Parts: sequence; C-alpha cells; structure tokens
Amino acid sequence: MSSYYDQHLHTHFSYDSKADFSDYLANSTGFLVTTEHFDVANPVTGHTDAPDYAKYSAEIDKLNQKYGNRVLKGIEIGYFAPQESEILAYLADKTYDLKLLSVHHNGEFDYLDDFVADMDFDAIFTRYLAELHDAIGRVEADVLAHFDYGIRLFDVSVSDLQRYESQLTAIFQKMIDYDLAFEINAKSTHLYNNLALYDYALKLVQSLGGTLFTLGSDGHKIEHYQLHFDELIDWLKAHGVRQLITFRGGSRHFVMI
Ligand SMILES: [Zn+2]
Ligand SMILES: [Zn+2]
Repeated sequence: MSSYYDQHLHTHFSYDSKADFSDYLANSTGFLVTTEHFDVANPVTGHTDAPDYAKYSAEIDKLNQKYGNRVLKGIEIGYFAPQESEILAYLADKTYDLKLLSVHHNGEFDYLDDFVADMDFDAIFTRYLAELHDAIGRVEADVLAHFDYGIRLFDVSVSDLQRYESQLTAIFQKMIDYDLAFEINAKSTHLYNNLALYDYALKLVQSLGGTLFTLGSDGHKIEHYQLHFDELIDWLKAHGVRQLITFRGGSRHFVMI
C-alpha cells in the first residue's frame, strides 16, 4: 500500500479500548495517529470520558524518541450540543495533528446501545441526522467521522437512505463548506456491512464537489488496524478518487492512491 496511514484508531487512552501503541507500532512502518475518544456526558459510562492529555502526550513523546517521531496526536470529538462549552474548554489548550468530529449519543443513549436496534428507524435516523448537522462547524475539526453511526444497528438499504437525501445533502454540503474531509469508516463498511451505503454517500459527496476523503479503520484493537484497506482503496479508485488526505502538524498532506 502507499504511504497512506489509518486516520481513525484507538488505544487505552479511549474508554472502550485496551490497545497499546506498541501493538500498532509493531505492525506499521510510517506515521501512526490515534484518535482517542472524547465523549462528554457519555451515557455509556455515566460521565465525561476524556483522554488524559498529559499522559497521552508524555507517552507519545517517549515513543517518538524510540520510533523516530512517527507517532502523531489525535482525538475523536463526540459532539453533544448541551455540553458544547465543556468540549471547547477541554480542547482550548491542547494541540492535535488530527481531529475527528463524531456524534455518538444524544444524552439519553449511545446509538450503539443494544436497545436502539428495537427502536423506530425513522425516529432514530431523523434525530441523529439533525444532531450531526448541528455538530458541523461548532468545534474545529478535520474530518466528519462515520456518517452512518446512528443507524449501524439497523439493516439499512440504499433506498432507506434515499428517503433522507435532502438531509444528507445538507449535511455533506455543510461538511464541504467547513472544509471537513469525509471519512470512509472501515468498521462501518466491513463489520457493519454498510459498504453500499458508503457507495451512495460517496457519490453524493462527489456530486456536491467534495474532494477530501480519509480512510479510517476505527480500530480498537490490532486485528482491525487498516482493516480491508487494500480493498477499500480499490473501491475508492473505482469511484474516481485518486488521493486521500492526511493531517500532520497543522498542515494537510495528500497521498496518491
Ligand atoms: Zn466514533
Ligand atoms: Zn472511533
């Protein structure tokens, strides 16, 4: 594979992962960036889950001495409007190479909580899309992560998505206006079998003039690192995508695929 590297990864600095940097470092050669969970008022745990930035930075500094400065800092910001001030306060004095923007919960439940599967698809999707639309532009970020997070537990067809095309168009247009990249989430495409939904969404983003794309495994363990990336890169090429974007030290780098 080219010098492209995974733009969505977690370690034990995320509340739901036990992975170590060494797991990923032992299985990679180029840059490595982790995007640790920052979820305010997280209904999964009953409190705000934020990575310990001092420890995270210290561990990365130590690893960078050993691994030739190839470890980068990242965060996955779980946006939740009622706690926006807490999000902005946490981020204010911290620097990252890569910031993902996500919506994981609505204050009552996480969209991956088991019981969501028994809820009404249209009610859930309508609510999730409204939250996702509101999230864009409220905090500085580089990438809009897993657009399908809110409906991962449903068996969704492209025609189901098409019924929400105007909402999705507004979200993707806002994403483009705010210069956010669109994430191809390998966990969504291959573990939740939503590749057809990404096919539809990618075409919609391209029809609006979107050109910034990232590929992220959303791995919480080494087994998912760069999950099916070779296949997804072929799939992106088939859609006319020739380059992916990466983020380092405040600048953007395009990688030909
Ligand atoms: Zn996420
Ligand atoms: Zn994630």
